[in-house]
Amino acid sequence: MQRSAVIVGAGVVGVASAYALADRGWRVTLVDQGAGPASGASHANGAQLSYCFTDALGSPSTFAALPKLLFGKGGVTIGLSARLDYLCWLARFARNCTAAKFRTNTLSVLQLAAESRAAMDRLCDKHPLEFSHRVAGKVNLLYSQEDERRSASIMAFKRAEGCEQTLVDRRELEQLDPALEGLDDEVTGAISTPSEVVGDPLLFCRSLVNVLTREYGVTARFDTGVCAIAENAAGASITLSNGEQLRADMVVVACGHASNRLLGPLGKAVSMQPIKGYSFEMPLANGSPHISVTDGKRRLVFTNLGDRMRVAGIAEVGEGSRDIDPGRIEWLVRSARESLPNGGDYSKAGQFWTGLRPSTPDSRPVIRRAGKSIAINTGHGSLGWTLAMGSAERLAGLVEN
Ligand SMILES: Cc1cc2nc3c(=O)[nH]c(=O)nc-3n(C[C@H](O)[C@H](O)[C@H](O)COP(=O)(O)OP(=O)(O)OC[C@H]3O[C@@H](n4cnc5c(N)ncnc54)[C@H](O)[C@@H]3O)c2cc1C
Repeated sequence: MQRSAVIVGAGVVGVASAYALADRGWRVTLVDQGAGPASGASHANGAQLSYCFTDALGSPSTFAALPKLLFGKGGVTIGLSARLDYLCWLARFARNCTAAKFRTNTLSVLQLAAESRAAMDRLCDKHPLEFSHRVAGKVNLLYSQEDERRSASIMAFKRAEGCEQTLVDRRELEQLDPALEGLDDEVTGAISTPSEVVGDPLLFCRSLVNVLTREYGVTARFDTGVCAIAENAAGASITLSNGEQLRADMVVVACGHASNRLLGPLGKAVSMQPIKGYSFEMPLANGSPHISVTDGKRRLVFTNLGDRMRVAGIAEVGEGSRDIDPGRIEWLVRSARESLPNGGDYSKAGQFWTGLRPSTPDSRPVIRRAGKSIAINTGHGSLGWTLAMGSAERLAGLVEN
């Protein structure tokens, strides 16, 4: 008999989960409170499929910078709050800042990223989706010998897992993409990863939902919030904001940073905090690089989406509001211009957006059962777009057994 699933949340993780189950023959209903897919963190994120840059946020260098970040106004800030869940998260995060944990967490996500790349390739071979998907390559700018030394040691342990990265100097950087000539003078070199990929997550979600409803019989319900989930001997049921109830053999919670609103009442909340970020877009200019650029010093990324440049950055740990702070946007545009002065037409910067990264203390997503008929797929932090396809495959493997 065909099994049924309700996926709550139609961001990249929920849509990918719907595909993984529908592809295995499940009857799937996808429910989201937004007007369409990708109305949360997936909407206008950095658009990078960072299959090799899986470095965990918690590391000895992050730990050393913690006092500065607590009061900082730069790219990364840690908010102050006496909320117990937040303090517990911070304590767990601090425990994940050792060199050993950094390595374990980074490698664990690297494995999931490799599964994601393979799953994405299989999907794109089967369905020609339009989402500006291409191998763009990426450079991660370095500013000092200390940066280079640290990067070399991280590259070494990732290389052992098949990750092709090299250190390039300033001259080689300009050979990779002549548009990088105008970089900040202080840049000494970069890590180059030729295999990194870009793609627009909003277009991906829209195209895949179209395929799912047209070819896999998936029902997509938007403008429909889920208020509660309950489990009984026959399966699980969800209560929608209009009072309606839906029953299914399996309910998957994929609500990003909002997942705990549904999991908390079940006693299944996961340790997760929002990390707020921003993005904007601008028209391409003569000096726009084709290659993706990550500026770790300013904590921002540039992604050429073919017809526009997207810039994303800022990490405000523990900040859960979705209001756009004009001061932060001003900071992001100014910092991007300092980093890559000819990266795009800054005079036409627009599409200002903010989103909340659903972040766990160890930078690893939570993919597990929360009951016989309830499963969780959330907590993907800064890499949800990268990890969505592999996470969906793991989730499907979990609930099929
Ligand atoms: C500035 C920024 C840049 C980023 N850049 C990158 C990048 O370059 N590469 C990368 O891999 N990742 C990046 N990320 C991270 C990535 O965007 C997230 O990890 C990912 O989008 C999380 O996807 P999700 O589907 O879990 O959550 P979301 O996209 O937030 O989706 C959750 C969905 O659940 C719905 N929902 C919530 N509650 C309910 C409810 N009660 N009932 C019904 N629906 C509900 C919401 O409407 C939403 O559509 C970035 C994030 C930010 C903020």
